[in-house]
Amino acid sequence: LSSSIQKAQRLIGKSGTLTKENMKDPLKEVRRALLEADVSLPVVRRFIKKVEERALGTKVLDGVTPDTQFIKTVLDGVTPDTQFIKTVSNELIDLMGGGVGAKDLEPGFPQIILMAGLQGVGKTTAAGKLALYLKKSKKSCLLVATDVYRPAAIDQLVKLGAAIDVPVFEMGTQVDPVEIAKKGVEEGRRLGVDAVIIDTAGRLQVDEDMMGELRSMKAALRPSDTLLVVDAMTGQEAANLVKAFNDQVDISGAILTKMDGDSRGGAALSVREVSGKPIKFVGVGEKMEALEPFYPERMASRILGMGDVLTLYERAESAIKEEDAKRTVERMMEEKFDFNDFMAQWKTMNNMGGLQMLKMMPGFNKISEKQLYEAEKTFEMYEAVIKAMEEEERSDPELLVKSMARRRRVAQASGRSEADVAKLMGAYTAMKSQMGGMSKLLKLQKAGADPS
Ligand code: GDP
Ligand code: MG
Repeated sequence: LSSSIQKAQRLIGKSGTLTKENMKDPLKEVRRALLEADVSLPVVRRFIKKVEERALGTKVLDGVTPDTQFIKTVLDGVTPDTQFIKTVSNELIDLMGGGVGAKDLEPGFPQIILMAGLQGVGKTTAAGKLALYLKKSKKSCLLVATDVYRPAAIDQLVKLGAAIDVPVFEMGTQVDPVEIAKKGVEEGRRLGVDAVIIDTAGRLQVDEDMMGELRSMKAALRPSDTLLVVDAMTGQEAANLVKAFNDQVDISGAILTKMDGDSRGGAALSVREVSGKPIKFVGVGEKMEALEPFYPERMASRILGMGDVLTLYERAESAIKEEDAKRTVERMMEEKFDFNDFMAQWKTMNNMGGLQMLKMMPGFNKISEKQLYEAEKTFEMYEAVIKAMEEEERSDPELLVKSMARRRRVAQASGRSEADVAKLMGAYTAMKSQMGGMSKLLKLQKAGADPS
């Protein structure tokens, strides 16, 4: 995907004005990229038309394309600083609800949150995550288990509740779900909680049973939020799914789950386009903490394959000391980068769950487990070689660039081959240049409307 966007950039070239003619092929590439990201076809069509209208006549800024070997071989990154990409990205952001940051839950006393969605999409998990999210903002919660069709479902919620220390209301499997939901809200009022979250039963497909149940619950509870939980892997089908739920139960927003997987997030575009309702949260893992507010800007860059630099930065920030994070980013912005930074960067990634983090960097989205393993081995080699360097070489990589004798000595001292040292040098040069690209992207994203 990222390479097709890159190709699109290349097709436009470095100079001149965007015209219908020179945009034709690049737009084809974007169209392909979006389809690859599972954006549904009608959405893509409307989108391309809008971009074309808006981009016509816009000047192309100087395209900066880092041409190092590393980018070609490993990162295959995208520098998004052409006007064209910016236009595409802005349109995506608009389509997903504009650059106003994340949407929170609707107010209510108590807040009543009804979870809806097909079976297995992550409703029960999301219910627990929301409870923890509210708890963190000092709101008390009650979880209500109404999935009476699978006894295990009630157990699952009870366990989740115990794990995050939130009470769970249940009445077994012999009571009507709508009745349980009503009793649950009464119980919530009695306990004086700030929010009642109703977990419901999904079905394998959209059917009248499920919709009828949800409609009855809505009528009986008048929830402040009815959140449709959508699995990000749903792909093209997401549009139909969202339409069905929105038409029949009038959702207030959506939660996009399993965004930690390989999905590009094209489903996010469909949600907004089809329903006009915002995505409020994204699920990024199985743990209760793995819930994040939804930011259109970030999703746009993910869909376009630019990597999610801001999220990466945030994770880095919480994983390492804030000063270290600042220093890394500052050095990145200044485009200073030596072997110490290279190592620090790598160690930071290790702290944050190893190379999994790389998945969030530009060009890395499609990496496989095997590739991750190999990359891990490679970095072990880098570490050994860097350790064998003298301090002055570590802080001034040019010394090694210039001296074959030094490289040979380092190879011997590290017990690795000269080819390994050469590989590290290549990776270093490329990462340095990539950092330059990232710093531009970071500046670009910071300049965007995202307030976080
Ligand atoms: P429900 O049938 O809609 O209630 O779905 P569940 O909440 O039981 O989730 C189904 C499966 O998806 C479980 O194994 C969850 O751990 C998993 N799951 C839910 N949300 C996420 C997520 O954001 N990321 C990942 N990786 N797995 C998730
Ligand atoms: Mg469930």
